[in-house]
Amino acid sequence: MFLNFNRPTPLEEYTFENISFLLKRDDLISQLFSGNKARKIDYYWHNFPSHINTIVSYGSIQSNAMLSLARFAALKRLNFRYYANHIPSFLRENPHGNLLLALKEGMELKEGYSNLIINKNELLIKEGIATQEAYFGVEKLAQELIEQVAMGEYQVFLPSGTGTTALFLSKALQKLGATHFKVYTTACVGSSEYLREQWQELESNESYYPIIVETKKRYHFGRLYREFYQIWLELHKATGVEFELLYDPKGWLAILENREIFTNLLYIHQGGELGNISMLARYKRKYGENI
Ligand SMILES: *Cc1c(COP(=O)(O)O)cnc(C)c1O
Repeated sequence: MFLNFNRPTPLEEYTFENISFLLKRDDLISQLFSGNKARKIDYYWHNFPSHINTIVSYGSIQSNAMLSLARFAALKRLNFRYYANHIPSFLRENPHGNLLLALKEGMELKEGYSNLIINKNELLIKEGIATQEAYFGVEKLAQELIEQVAMGEYQVFLPSGTGTTALFLSKALQKLGATHFKVYTTACVGSSEYLREQWQELESNESYYPIIVETKKRYHFGRLYREFYQIWLELHKATGVEFELLYDPKGWLAILENREIFTNLLYIHQGGELGNISMLARYKRKYGENI
């Protein structure tokens, strides 16, 4: 199976809205795992405990982490049980998007977090793979950036869900002495306070925390916004690269609203475009063809 985890992903140059920036193509890291999920899974790929026969996780019904874990489990010949708090009946009858792909990998889907149980020889992986083990792979991303960009002062930007990738990237860059990089992020799931709480669970040294930038408007995770779809389309037109529809639009809106900060932007493309299938279907249902 082709897993190019260890290769440096390309670093390319683009311009969007008069901002020229470097784009780290972590969307190209693996055909199987979605961008940063490949980085977060890397540790388990190399160090999976041999007595474990089942991975258990939980989270949203179309999650990129869910699909990545389903593929990981299939490759490692492990069982994978996943709990969604609520399974909409139309999805139960007609699964599509990430859910369909994960079910095809053999994922067992359960409803209700209160039903979550862990048996002997099973490993629970936190929602969004927000685990200490994720550091192992994210540190490799930091090493690649250091090799690819030796000079200048760069603002590294990546949008956050659990914030694990942004935190560990910031920590690894600091620990590796790469003071010419500063990591910035924006919270896509919950508020900036929520993001900091997530970080406190993973890291007590606050000097490693990324800098949080905000948008004036509050966006709710998973909801559809015309401006999200529009910036996603414009990004595609300007770069020819497909971005992702849940995290990247909020990320780019935060950059444009704080553009004075980003004089030398390096944006991490964290993959996730497979999830666009179900997102685009939702956008079409809500706004019609001529959005
Ligand atoms: C999972 C994911 C994120 C969030 O990553 P965290 O480490 O949880 O912050 C961001 N972008 C994409 C495309 C993702 O799939």
